[in-house]
Amino acid sequence: MTASKAVRADPFEIGGHVVLPGQRDRFDMPAALLPTHTQLHIPLTVIHGLRKGPVLCLSAVVHGDELNGLEVIRRVLEKIDGPLQSGTVIAAPIVNVFGFIGQSRYMPDRRDLNRSFPGSRTGSLAARIADLFLRQIIARATHCIDIHTAAQDKRNLGQIRGDLRDPETLRLARAFGAPVMLQSGTRGGSMRSAAIKLGIKAVVYEAGEPLRFNEPEIKIGERGVLAVMRELGMRKVGPKIQPARSVLLEESSWIRARRGGLMRLSVDVGTVVEAKQRIGTISDPFGEESVSVRAPFRGIVIGKTNNPVVHGGDALVHVGKLGT
Ligand SMILES: [Zn+2]
Repeated sequence: MTASKAVRADPFEIGGHVVLPGQRDRFDMPAALLPTHTQLHIPLTVIHGLRKGPVLCLSAVVHGDELNGLEVIRRVLEKIDGPLQSGTVIAAPIVNVFGFIGQSRYMPDRRDLNRSFPGSRTGSLAARIADLFLRQIIARATHCIDIHTAAQDKRNLGQIRGDLRDPETLRLARAFGAPVMLQSGTRGGSMRSAAIKLGIKAVVYEAGEPLRFNEPEIKIGERGVLAVMRELGMRKVGPKIQPARSVLLEESSWIRARRGGLMRLSVDVGTVVEAKQRIGTISDPFGEESVSVRAPFRGIVIGKTNNPVVHGGDALVHVGKLGT
């Protein structure tokens, strides 16, 4: 047997479906039966290379109203017009089909799917979907990129979050080339934490706002995924790694409102702020009794609220800490 035959890929079996080497397949995985007895599916595309290699899972809409990732995945699939050099792409652009239909972050039982992993076969609806997706899809991968946006009324600068102290995870993050890489511990119940427990290298791309297609963040995401595929040897073509593009941030903090009122912010995502710099004010409806919003340290604004009406304690601005 020659060396090239030795690395030829086997048929890829996923969710009860078999994809042959060199094939691209679009199919629907049964997810749940609605009360109407209509079957609900999770739509999937698998592109299986001729040679063995990394299995990259691309997922989006785990929160049903976070749409940028769905468009990133659509564009990435459009760009891959030939066979892969090696490895396999599993693309799941709409994981939380329930939330997506209802344009809601949550599942119909008000649970957060990204706090429901690893899930269980006999648990809540969210736990069952988490269990199904983890066992059938995520467990087949070697690398995962899960794409999110900020929550309702907020906006995030394009950023890769992951355990960047792990060399392979840092390699993924650097290749992606988002404006910011944020060191991030795992959150209990998230898809990323469940994937990491299975030994899979997983990062989250956080970008833009819910219920929008934010073009700049989508473009960064499309380029980032294609650059990761090139870095992993899955494609010969694609954007090259540009290590200087991403700023590595070790920690971050949300500035919270000292009291309620109307907020005027003078910064946007991506703005560099200095320690104690005044970046906004909160006042009464007449602009009086104003208090300052100040940066806690030197850093980059990586997220912010879009809503000027704030209560005391509300999260206003997310600042990633820069070295001095
Ligand atoms: Zn999310």
